[in-house]
Amino acid sequence: MERRNFIKGFIALGACPVCAKAASAAGNHWSYSGGEGPRHWAELDRKNFVCSGGTQQSPVDVSGTIEADLPPISIGWHKGGGVMVNNGHTIQINMPAGSTLGRGGRKYDLLQFHFHAPSEHHVEGRTFPMEAHFVHKDRDTGALGVLAVFLTPGAANTTFAGLAAAFPAQEGAEVSVDKIDPNGLLPTSLRYWTYEGSLTTPPCSENVDWMVAREPVEVTAADIERFTAIYPANARPIVSQNRRFILSSH
Ligand SMILES: [Zn+2]
Repeated sequence: MERRNFIKGFIALGACPVCAKAASAAGNHWSYSGGEGPRHWAELDRKNFVCSGGTQQSPVDVSGTIEADLPPISIGWHKGGGVMVNNGHTIQINMPAGSTLGRGGRKYDLLQFHFHAPSEHHVEGRTFPMEAHFVHKDRDTGALGVLAVFLTPGAANTTFAGLAAAFPAQEGAEVSVDKIDPNGLLPTSLRYWTYEGSLTTPPCSENVDWMVAREPVEVTAADIERFTAIYPANARPIVSQNRRFILSSH
């Protein structure tokens, strides 16, 4: 056992410089502006090819939607201890296992949620100051199901205020958050728009079932500023709908 650990440690040490290189080649070094900005993501790594060459990219302007009989979203999120990380691109809260989202016959597990400013999706050409992404994974297919919630200035939101007070400003910094209740960031109504799209960050993989909540959630302007003081602009520009349908629940 000890010997195996030693060998493992040795390999890890030996591989470290390669690891660092591999990590940077795998697309860790990208940004929202300049030479490593969204227009260049595909050039940064072959794995990011679909960022430019894809046909089902996100985010989009939500317009020309079609009303449909969509299955309701059922949220089974639990209050729990999470870890809030400044990952260099956003503030992300990694959640413990056990929270789910169901829609029709599909069941997704909540992995993490994070924030963008301004919103990544537009609605009829309009943006919101922030957008939260709740990232879930389909147990059976491995596809991602992301629920997007727009944040707009207004009344205080206890969940967001609690997080904002502890946002780690430094890249790489982590803080544990006790008893975070993600349900506090849900709008009253879960009417939504849905379309097939992609990750909005490299490698822009086209395996995301997007669910965009139609009703925004209010948070205070001061709490929005706590985020934008760290990440003033971490939204990928919208891309073409590319003949996709965006469906709207009743
Ligand atoms: Zn996101």
